[in-house]
Amino acid sequence: MEENSVMQYSCPTCGSQNTQRLSTAYMSGVSQFSAVTSGVGWAGAPVFGSGWTSGTSQTQLSKIAAPPTKKSYRNGLFLLFLAPFIGPAPFALLERISGVTPVYEHLAVVFGILLEIVALIWLVSTFTFNKTVWPKLCRQWQLHFVCLRCGQIFVSG
Ligand SMILES: [Zn+2]
Repeated sequence: MEENSVMQYSCPTCGSQNTQRLSTAYMSGVSQFSAVTSGVGWAGAPVFGSGWTSGTSQTQLSKIAAPPTKKSYRNGLFLLFLAPFIGPAPFALLERISGVTPVYEHLAVVFGILLEIVALIWLVSTFTFNKTVWPKLCRQWQLHFVCLRCGQIFVSG
């Protein structure tokens, strides 16, 4: 039983037991990763997005090792507050060119409301992501290990 748990933490590529939890490796400083840039294989977990080939820069390595981040509410809030101004703007411009018409007045209001709806959907999806998706990404991140010998990143059983 104990041997089994040890096995899970040995590198599937080179068999080295010199592995570290990705989170620990990240916290202890990304500079450590510079030693393991050659010949790395990326297991292909979609969590971290892009693939990882040999010769990756340190920037990319730190990006892969970095914990998943929560989404920011900033842009959504920004749109929420600015929608009443952004929405009617193009129509104000049109009115300046072709004169004030009721159609533009109505479209300006409709467009402003649409932007508000978009902003609300944005905020709700951000909230949903942070509440449901982000904790999952974090848990998966915690399961990832990096081999300090060959640079392989793998998921523990
Ligand atoms: Zn290895």
